[in-house]
Amino acid sequence: MHGVGMRDKKHFTKDSIQIAPFVLLPSPFPSTEFNKAIELQPILNELMHKVAHDDKFLEHTLQNALQVDEFTANLYDIWVKVRQEGITQSIMLGLFRSDYLMQCTEANRIKQVEINTIASSFGAISSELPAMSRYILRQLGHGDLIKNMPVNNALSGLCAGIVQAYDLFDVASAIILFVVEEVSYNICDQRFHEFEISEKRPDIQIYRKTLNEIYVETTLNDKKQLVLDGRPVAVVYYRSGYEPAQYPSSREWDARLRVERSTAIKCPSIQYQLAGTKKVQQTLAGAGVLEQFVGGGAAACRVRDIFTGLYSLDFDEGGERAVDMALADAERFVLKPQREGGGNNLYGAEVREALLKMRHSRERAAYILMERILPPLVSGYVVRPGAPVPPPLSDLVSELGIFGVIIGTKDKIYCNRQVGHMLRTKLADANEGGVAAGLGALDSPYLLEM
Ligand code: ADP
Ligand code: MG
Repeated sequence: MHGVGMRDKKHFTKDSIQIAPFVLLPSPFPSTEFNKAIELQPILNELMHKVAHDDKFLEHTLQNALQVDEFTANLYDIWVKVRQEGITQSIMLGLFRSDYLMQCTEANRIKQVEINTIASSFGAISSELPAMSRYILRQLGHGDLIKNMPVNNALSGLCAGIVQAYDLFDVASAIILFVVEEVSYNICDQRFHEFEISEKRPDIQIYRKTLNEIYVETTLNDKKQLVLDGRPVAVVYYRSGYEPAQYPSSREWDARLRVERSTAIKCPSIQYQLAGTKKVQQTLAGAGVLEQFVGGGAAACRVRDIFTGLYSLDFDEGGERAVDMALADAERFVLKPQREGGGNNLYGAEVREALLKMRHSRERAAYILMERILPPLVSGYVVRPGAPVPPPLSDLVSELGIFGVIIGTKDKIYCNRQVGHMLRTKLADANEGGVAAGLGALDSPYLLEM
């Protein structure tokens, strides 16, 4: 009833949506750690922005991974091409999300899981969910507790970013283009972004196209504008395009290249997407690297504090040490390839198995090794289609995501803000909690002084 819906993956029909899995009551989260994450977001936005503009750093960092990872290599090739031709649009729009788990062995401090620079989804339905949680709390006679639920304006904040970029493009009759999958499951979340922009700015026309449709229907004019339906595209906002499966043929890659060549403001730009790789995250955690971007002061300390152990698996001394360390105690680690969207990581015994298999093969450099974060358990009821009524009381763990918006060029930042949050909660024994991947449930934080 609040729009917290998704299409059914198993029995897909375009004509119906189901409830998205959600947690009946908001899950507890320490308020100090929540506020810390909120305050850090502008620093992280700027960090990613700077990384994306440091050609040498990106080149160096991705070199080994792209030798063995075709998807990263394809993205990288586009970046090389557009740089050779000359960048046509210096303004970038970043809608980022930094994800955290609480580490319970360290007195309940947040640790960063990753930062996403593409497809920052669930901002919309995470903004709708609290209305339902508030209703449930009142029905249970606990309306007084609502004050502990932080306001969440993720949807309006993200859309305001898109609109600000549109205004900076400043071409009459320009449009906004949403790049969508062939089949969108997370349809409510996507559409709410369109509705929000349209309500706030009725003058702006929004198009939705797949990469294949962009290949067929768009052109570049002599001013390098991306033209669709006779109108220049001001902003290209990717809701998809972060998984190899979304580039089934060279057409999709050609479409991506055309967009990158154009003057449209891209969200994310190819540089932002490369900056959001796991390899970059791991490299930033190395001694002195983060400091190159944020300086050696208090900001660096605050960011370092949210990092957990991250190790390269390159063929060098450090890489060998990391392999030995992981083989000795695989349960302590997560092995991650250069992928997004959930379901790609390896845990525990799988880490050991995979490392034994690829120890001597180049493939290994496409992965990073990360210390496993052990979050505290909370109990709650997960409501999902097909679940028993009432659902069982289960042990759960929550992952907090903080949304950020940044708009800028290499030298000028037009806006840099934190715009809201999301909480995804999963059964304690599941490795991953992606809602789109079918494992997690949408949730809201209930802030506690701890
Ligand atoms: P993806 O790009 O696929 O979302 P993530 O790095 O976010 O990759 O990992 C997916 C999920 O795996 C996370 O949402 C989290 O639930 C779990 N996960 C990832 N890294 C760790 C870690 N270091 N410790 C514990 N769980 C992790
Ligand atoms: Mg993730």
